Amino acid sequence: MTTFSNTLEFAQQQDQQDQLHHFRDRFYIPQINGKDSIYLTGNSLGLQPKSTQDHVLDELEDWANYGVEGHFHARNPWLSYHEIFPDMLSPLVGAMPEELVVMNQLTVNLHLLMISFYRPTPQRYKIICEAKAFPSDQYALQSQVRLHGFDPDTAIIEVEPLEGTSYIDNEAILDTIRKHGDEVALVMIGGVNYYSGQVFDMQQICKVAHEVGAYCGFDLAHAAGNVQLELHDWQVDFACWCSYKYLNSGPGGVSGAFIHQRHITDSSMMRLAGWWGHDKENRFKMEKDFLPIPTAEGWQLSNAPVLSMAAHKASLEIFQEAGMHNLVAKGKLLSGYLLHILHEINHTTSQKFIEVLTPENENERGCQVSMLMLKDGKKVFESLIQNGVIADWREPNVIRVAPVPLYNTFEDVFNFGKILQHYLLG
Ligand SMILES: *Cc1c(COP(=O)(O)O)cnc(C)c1O
Repeated sequence: MTTFSNTLEFAQQQDQQDQLHHFRDRFYIPQINGKDSIYLTGNSLGLQPKSTQDHVLDELEDWANYGVEGHFHARNPWLSYHEIFPDMLSPLVGAMPEELVVMNQLTVNLHLLMISFYRPTPQRYKIICEAKAFPSDQYALQSQVRLHGFDPDTAIIEVEPLEGTSYIDNEAILDTIRKHGDEVALVMIGGVNYYSGQVFDMQQICKVAHEVGAYCGFDLAHAAGNVQLELHDWQVDFACWCSYKYLNSGPGGVSGAFIHQRHITDSSMMRLAGWWGHDKENRFKMEKDFLPIPTAEGWQLSNAPVLSMAAHKASLEIFQEAGMHNLVAKGKLLSGYLLHILHEINHTTSQKFIEVLTPENENERGCQVSMLMLKDGKKVFESLIQNGVIADWREPNVIRVAPVPLYNTFEDVFNFGKILQHYLLG
């Protein structure tokens, strides 16, 4: 256990000892007033690796040089461009390469996967999700329910947080699944809650979903590249995530999808099909009948968006080098340090300024810390901006910050705390 100390010396010493510290130089840090900003929104849009431009330019060059022949002759032939990703992503999400495919964007993938994994019947039609899920997920769930002729009000069961908090008790999720039992078609949860930063016990949730005969899927937008995932071993049926948050692959970047091994060869599974999911040997025979590739690629619709994938590749190379376990360990230290400082601010006077919405328990959080500001929320936020912090504001009074292990430092966290302290305590 590290004993944290809210001093510059401590922060600098931690940075010196940090094996991942040099990775910061591999990223462009947005400048404010000619200085590195304190960028704490890697949970919203990850920073740009300096290598990204070269990767994208390579593809532009090959397009200029080869035209359509780039599908075969580009340095990374476009025909099979997406095939580089499963091996790179597999250690990040704990999946076998054949369970992974990179395609489309997150909400699109959520829909495509629900076409396969939400097959309601009059007896079994309910979806269990967390209350106040990310809006896009709520809309996706509601429209899927309607697509099948059911009513969202009765079909979608939300698990509420504990009274007066934003903490959702894992047992409450399990109890809700058990209570609705054989009426549950699907359990679909955000693996890490976007608002509170709470990490759910995905393994347990999945186990209990399967006990009642339901499928279980996760939206991992805030989990991928943030916490250690073991999707295969947890027996998760499906999952998807975006690449522009912790995965630093650029605005609107391409999404990742996971479909468990036990489903990928099931050609009878309902899906919306496209030519890029069709058997590769026969794809260009342009035949009528769809023969799905017996991997997660069988869910692909379209040919690969190479420019966006080039950015994804640049970023995943850095993850490979840094190692997911190292990143997770440092991420927890950074957020632990931040929590320590917030406690100190709360305990300096008799007044409590900040209510931390993120669980203290290391297994229930990743990098993100969400703070409900009890006094002058908006003004505190403005003072942060004025002092070079880039953070995220959520109504009514929540500031979300995420020190991320690839480019944030302990000194960033210390400086953030100092600005906060200065405003609140004078
Ligand atoms: C960021 C986020 C999204 C965004 O969806 P896109 O399709 O990538 O625009 C959806 N769901 C969750 C839980 C998110 O955190």
